[in-house]
This record gives sequence, structure tokens and C-alpha cells, in this order.
Amino acid sequence: MKIANEYLAKVYADVEARNPGEPEFLQAVGEVLESLSPVADRRPDLIKAGVFDRIVEPERMITFRVSWVDDAGNVRVNRGYRVQFNSAIGPYKGGLRLHPSVNASVIKFLGFEQCFKNSLTTLPMGGGKGGSDFDPKGKSDGEIMRFCQSFMTELEKHIGQFTDVPAGDIGVGAREIGFMYGQYKRIRNEVTGVLTGKSISYGGSLARKEATGYGLCYFADEMLRAAGKSFEGKTVVISGSGNVAIYACEKATALGGKVVAMSDSSGYVVDPDGIKLDVIKQIKEVERGRIVEYAKRVPTASFHEGCRGIWTVPCDIALPCATQNELDLDGAKALVANGCIAVAEGANMPSTPDAVEYFQANKVLFAPAKASNAGGVATSGLEMSQNSLRMSWSFEEVDEKLHGIMKNIYAAAAAAAKEYGCEGNLVAGANIAGFLKIADAMLWQGIAY
Ligand code: NDP
Repeated sequence: MKIANEYLAKVYADVEARNPGEPEFLQAVGEVLESLSPVADRRPDLIKAGVFDRIVEPERMITFRVSWVDDAGNVRVNRGYRVQFNSAIGPYKGGLRLHPSVNASVIKFLGFEQCFKNSLTTLPMGGGKGGSDFDPKGKSDGEIMRFCQSFMTELEKHIGQFTDVPAGDIGVGAREIGFMYGQYKRIRNEVTGVLTGKSISYGGSLARKEATGYGLCYFADEMLRAAGKSFEGKTVVISGSGNVAIYACEKATALGGKVVAMSDSSGYVVDPDGIKLDVIKQIKEVERGRIVEYAKRVPTASFHEGCRGIWTVPCDIALPCATQNELDLDGAKALVANGCIAVAEGANMPSTPDAVEYFQANKVLFAPAKASNAGGVATSGLEMSQNSLRMSWSFEEVDEKLHGIMKNIYAAAAAAAKEYGCEGNLVAGANIAGFLKIADAMLWQGIAY
């Protein structure tokens, strides 16, 4: 880590000593502290009040056993997590991830990032994240339901509409949110907006499903426009084929781009004619199948095993929308060599630090996740507002608010970068703008939190 400010370098060393064996968490903290050096140089009051030292330590980390019974009658045990990272500006808010790679490091990195992202939306939401190492792949609906019910039986003790409001993430969509919400209601006997990402029939928000992918493209569009460019006529590559990737594909296409490749964890498909999104939606949203099916159904497409090769597909714009550290230095070099002009992150921390550095050194426009994928949580915030108001807004109303929020996030990140001497660096700008609001709230609220 190249942390210029001496005080922040010491904060990072303490985090390293206190969190051994947590590489993802250290990566996320290091990247933020690196950006905050010019803030620490100017703000001795924040150092004196220990804001930097406090912001890197979660307020609370809950770990629990999740036991459930599979279809064959066997007892299965997984580990559940919820990190309640920072509540300075609102109730903890952040998704739940179900994936075998989930561990304390992954949950803490996601929770830490979430604090700054939520701050950037300007909505009153603190940062949290949770999940389990449960693998939903290949499980029956009954198994998914029993797992989700067992998970919520413990989680409900720690959450609530004014305390902590979880949502979806990898492996958690409307089906899982429904099972969890049902269990929360059964135990608490209350109907509140305790989860977001709900189905429309019981309090979900229109446009929440589309929000992260749409928001990503709204942000990328702002970034492109500021450089005198646009999506029009551009070739786009999108990794992943889940919730974020599908709606990024839809909006990128609507803005005039042509998406030529998408992936899942088994490989990627290339379709020079442009990805047919109805086919992807049928395979992924309806059948819960594998992406190789696309190449079997669409004659112009080819399937390639392994997901990292997707970055060798020539494109103007790359949208990594699968998972953390999926785009490394080799991927970045391949993109730059093929003339890529912009990268906007849909997934959380999908680019490794050396890949980000390479993009910036080669003048590729780069949109960091905590700014560019904030549309999902922003719309979750709008879902919370609608639940509190006991009313619902139209798709167009929500989409318009989302669009406005993404434009504002771009403007805030760009302005903070300029003010702190790193114009054009949206990584630094997003970290600084997100941090300052939380820091101010922490100052007002005294030292204990
Ligand atoms: P989904 O579960 O809907 O889709 C995830 C996609 O990424 C799938 O195509 C999956 O492939 C692929 N993927 C997951 N893990 C890996 C891996 N280890 N290697 C390669 N591919 C992988 O999740 P989302 O679309 O909701 O989330 C994608 C990313 O966006 C995550 O980083 C998430 O944190 C972030 N995000 C999501 C938001 C949301 O609103 N949903 C909001 C903000 C950020 P396979 O099916 O083969 O596993």
C-alpha cells in the first residue's frame, strides 16, 4: 500500500495487525486510506477525534450457526454473518450474499465499502453487509426455503426497519428475500420494510431489480459525456449474467451500445451480432441455467471456458459485473491493448489494485464500484421511503430519481477529486466525498460511536 500520509499509514498498519488472514478487507481499507491522505493532511481535527481509527473498525460483527435439513433428510450446517459497520448517517444497510466463498474477510470488505457508497447516495443509510457460505447452486426450492428460514431465525434478533435493513446480493434475489421476509414476519408479527428487494406484491419497489445495472450505465454515461464521448455505437463487454449484468446489458443497449460478451463462473459467450437479452433472461432468470446454453441456442454465438478470458474480447467499454478481483492486471492489459476507453465497475471491487493503476496510467476512464454501482442501494433507500409512506411510486418516478442520484454521485466524486488535487481520479473523489459526510456525522455524535 502506498499511503502517503504518515498517520494513515499507521492506521493501516494497525488494521493489518488486527485483521490477519483477511486479504479482501485489507485491500478495501488500504485503497480508501490511500485516497484519504490529502484529507488527513488538511484535517487535523479528524485525526484528533480518531475518526480514521474508528471508521475502519466495524461497530458490530455477528457470526452464527445456520442449520437446516436437505431434501434427503440430512442435517446441514453453514455459517451466517452480519457486519454492522457504521450507523453514523442512518440504519445499517447492505445486502446478503450466499456463495461458498463468503467468509469474515469478504463480508467486512463489502460492509466497509458499503458505508461510503451509501453516503454517496445522499440518502440516510449507514453501512452493513451479511451472508453465508451456503451455496444455492443445485439446491431445490424447498432447500432454499429451509435455509433462508433458519438464517432469518437468528438474523431477526439483530435487524429492524430502524436498525438494520438487509437486501439481496450474489445468490440472493426475490425468491430468497421472500422466504426471509416471510420468516421475519412470522416471528415478529409485524409488517415493516425490514428487507429491500421485495416483490412488488408485498412492498417491493418498481425498478429495484433494474436499478444497479441501470444506475451503472447512467454513471458511465455521465463519465463518458464529461469526456465528450457516449455509449452510441460502442462495443461493450459485460462479465457476469446475474442481476447487475442483465440490467446493465439492457440499459447499455438502450443507450446505443452493442454488448458482445457476457459470462458466468464457468465461462463466457461471445456474440458479434449483439447479445440477445431475452435469451439470457430465459436461461438465467427463468431456468437458472448455465451460460453455455446461450451458445447452443444462438447460432452466431460461441462459448469459451473459464471466465477471465472475457477481457480479451475487443471492446470500447468494459463493465465488470460478477465478483471481487475478477479483473486483474493481465485483463487490464488486454483491454488497453484492444483500445478500451472506459471501465465502469458494476460488481464490488472487481478490479485488482494493479489493474486500476494500469487503467489510470493509460488514461482509460475509470468508474469505481462504490460510486458506479450505488444505484441498487439508492433504490433500496427509495423502497424504504415508499414502505414508510405506505405508498408506491411508478416505474418512471423511481427511474427518474435513480437517474438524478447517479448524476449527483458523478458530480460529487468529480468535484471532490478536483478539490483535493486529483482531478479526473474518480476513485479518490468517490472515497473522499463518501468519507467526509460520515466523518462529519461521527464528529457531531461524539467518541463512543
Ligand atoms: P447474481 O448472483 O445475480 O449474479 C452473479 C453473477 O456473477 C453470476 O453470473 C455468477 O456466475 C457470477 N459470479 C459470481 N461469483 C463468481 C466468481 N467467483 N467467479 C466468476 N463469476 C462469478 O449477483 P448480482 O448480479 O446481484 O451481483 C454481482 C455483483 O454486483 C456482486 O459483486 C455484488 O456485490 C454487486 N452488487 C450487486 C447489487 C445488487 O443490487 N444486486 C448492488 C451493488 C453491487 P455463477 O452463476 O456461475 O456463479
